[in-house]
Amino acid sequence: MKPFDYQRAHSLADASGRMGDAASIIAGGTNLLDLMKIQVMTPSRVIDISRLSGMDRIEPHGDGLRIGALVTNTTLATDARIRAGWPVLSRAILAGASAQIRNKATTGGNLLQRTRCPYFYDTAMACNKRAPGTGCSAQGGSGRMLALFGTSDDCLAAHPSDMAVGLAVLGAEVEIRASSGDTRTLPVTQLYTLPGNRPDIETGLEKGDIITAVILPAPRIGTRQTYRKVRDRASYAFALVSVAAVLKMDGDTIAEAALAFGGVAPRPWTDAAVNGLLTGKRPEPATFERAAAHLVPDTAPHPETAFKRPLLRRTLIATLREASGLAGQVDTARNAPSGAPQ
Ligand SMILES: Cc1cc2nc3c(=O)[nH]c(=O)nc-3n(C[C@H](O)[C@H](O)[C@H](O)COP(=O)(O)OP(=O)(O)OC[C@H]3O[C@@H](n4cnc5c(N)ncnc54)[C@H](O)[C@@H]3O)c2cc1C
Repeated sequence: MKPFDYQRAHSLADASGRMGDAASIIAGGTNLLDLMKIQVMTPSRVIDISRLSGMDRIEPHGDGLRIGALVTNTTLATDARIRAGWPVLSRAILAGASAQIRNKATTGGNLLQRTRCPYFYDTAMACNKRAPGTGCSAQGGSGRMLALFGTSDDCLAAHPSDMAVGLAVLGAEVEIRASSGDTRTLPVTQLYTLPGNRPDIETGLEKGDIITAVILPAPRIGTRQTYRKVRDRASYAFALVSVAAVLKMDGDTIAEAALAFGGVAPRPWTDAAVNGLLTGKRPEPATFERAAAHLVPDTAPHPETAFKRPLLRRTLIATLREASGLAGQVDTARNAPSGAPQ
């Protein structure tokens, strides 16, 4: 680890004032410190915001909630209001990391954690995200965790946060304080920028910006919510593919559908057309197949992520069956004995 100055901020204004070219905010430190140890991130100054008062609260905000940026992942996932009104968020968070890490990891830090692309972590390899202009070793390299959507020739990395996917499907917003003291909000889906030819620019945040909170809109009463994550191990592993679903049923029709996808893009991936293909339809296998066919791209940007295409299709369909209540029903056509009329 390179030597650095540690400075504890006394207020948000103080933290912003200390930000400069080579400074990094530290909150829980579970990502930043790992990256500093292997010199992927080498800030000369680390500004600790973890003890700023008031940023670790979950408070009513209109009909929704305001989640302070320092609320830990454990506190957020286990909050009774979240579990009752926004259960997909609780499930997404609990699908990530380990209990120890979730106890330390914060809401703001989780959103801004860096990619898990192996070439980003390996300082001996070229990586446009870590060292702009050096190239992308994933192109022509190996890459089981890489993205399917939103990639460019310069970067194939996926964003690793489960929580961000849960927030995206709920239409949550990020509250940002600029160094001027002004505050603005951005939908979670717009916090992240696609790599294009500048993979080192990952968000719409400006220098000195600090995430102060996440705003959850009013709970969607009467919806069924779920988060399904597929990974190489049952726990302590990042998503190969994940699907967050919020469905509202009206009898045997899907009245509202919202979906977000993780492990497949440089940001939580959403596709309004897929939601539209489900809305107003009966929750039947053919409906789900149409939505999946629209979502899944015809080709993968890297040969080693080709397996994610059928995996995403199957995970989406399984999630929709669960969220719509179709999962418990017998598919008579599929189960008919061979030769029987169908
Ligand atoms: C072994 C392991 C397994 C994991 N598995 C998963 C998983 O399956 N799913 C998952 O989603 N995550 C997983 N994680 C990642 C974990 O969730 C993140 O490390 C954690 O959420 C980061 O939060 P933090 O508060 O510790 O961030 P920090 O490490 O403190 O900060 C991360 C980044 O965010 C910036 N930052 C932090 N707070 C703010 C703020 N308020 N405003 C502006 N910038 C800020 C920092 O400067 C830094 O660049 C895993 C981590 C480990 C180590």
